[in-house]
Amino acid sequence: MLINFKNIWNRLLPHIVRTKPMSDLCDMCQKNNAAVYRSANLPDVVKRAKLKKQFEHLELVSKERSLYRDMVSQCKKSVENLTLGSNTQCSRNINVHYSFDYAQHVHYPSNPLQPGPMYFLVPRKCGIFGVTCEGIPSQVNYLIDEGMCTGKGSNAVISYLHHFFNTYGLGEQHAELHCDNCSGQNKNKFIWYLMWRTLHNFHFSITLNFMITGHTKFGPDWCFGLLKQNFKRTEVSSLADMVECVEKSSVTGVNIPQLVGDEQGNVFVNVYDWQDFFAPYFKQLNGIKKLHHMRFDINHPGIIFCKTVCDENEEAINLLKDVSVHPPSALPEVQKPPGLDLKRQWYFFNKIREYCTEESQDTVCPLPVDQPSNCLSSEDESEDELPPVERHNGKKRNCKLSTDDLVTFWMNSKKLIVQQYQTKVITSHYWALKIERPLPLP
Ligand SMILES: [Zn+2]
Repeated sequence: MLINFKNIWNRLLPHIVRTKPMSDLCDMCQKNNAAVYRSANLPDVVKRAKLKKQFEHLELVSKERSLYRDMVSQCKKSVENLTLGSNTQCSRNINVHYSFDYAQHVHYPSNPLQPGPMYFLVPRKCGIFGVTCEGIPSQVNYLIDEGMCTGKGSNAVISYLHHFFNTYGLGEQHAELHCDNCSGQNKNKFIWYLMWRTLHNFHFSITLNFMITGHTKFGPDWCFGLLKQNFKRTEVSSLADMVECVEKSSVTGVNIPQLVGDEQGNVFVNVYDWQDFFAPYFKQLNGIKKLHHMRFDINHPGIIFCKTVCDENEEAINLLKDVSVHPPSALPEVQKPPGLDLKRQWYFFNKIREYCTEESQDTVCPLPVDQPSNCLSSEDESEDELPPVERHNGKKRNCKLSTDDLVTFWMNSKKLIVQQYQTKVITSHYWALKIERPLPLP
């Protein structure tokens, strides 16, 4: 049916085209390319300068990429015959490379044969944080239920990574880490944590490397891809199903599931208050956003070695407020998971429960203990809930137009442009529509 639709579309409206799937676009590349494109009528000197700028950017990208590849291939040699699991910290004199990132969250219950009304509902969210050891290759996926989610801040990232080192680490003395570029605030907390690890001999040395924004395709994306492919094919009704879906996402068992907590609120991976714990001991590093490489080692307590790009010279900076005072090795205070608010609990019970399998109904959408208060959803309010819509790069976003809105819009306007709206007929593609005339009403 979709094929017929496409054929008719191409025959009758050949001037309206679909945007090609794109992801992780680089702002710098786009700006430079646009500048090159616009320089067609300008003098050769100007043209050359604009081309040179983009050339230099790509050179840098390629250098950083080879650094990543080298680290991964080095790691492959040192982790031969090893598997992720409980290994005594610093028990092996090897270099191991790990990458970590968040995936776009998924919703459950989820069914490959999605019932129509489900499209307009917002089921329970499950965040995914992955730590990959490309050398094996294997990835531990932290499954973060909506009730467990304390946000994507530094406390959560550090806590999951801390859990990973303790529970799944290979016992390496030297760790090399790669991650997507994150905000300066998070970066500061993160380097404090790595510094703390080397201060207490949990690692002898650590390097932290950030990918160039817009050129961040790396190990975790590959593992998330496998996971999401299987998720689309599998009926997932509960976190237990999600765990199974992760396990079965590859034949060789690349993806390992790790629940952060279950639907009832039992916590398996603690989130600690690292921010307040470190703040009295460490200084903020200025201009941290520009830095792409950092290094810590036990022979230089409190000193961070950093550089902007891989082929520059390192700069040594002291991070300790008082060089004689180190943060303790004991763990910070545990942060309690926020849990689900009453409104969401009743929403799940009233709207989502029927889409769960019978066995999972009482775990995923149980009858809330507390009565709904006045502010809770009436029948119409659910209409305001925005349906999750598949975006062109596979990420979800909320659609702000309902079919009724569109019809009204069509009726009221002579000339209109509808962008970023996905019709229900074409569920897996992103369409940019440009409609010059009002369409006939259905
Ligand atoms: Zn770029």
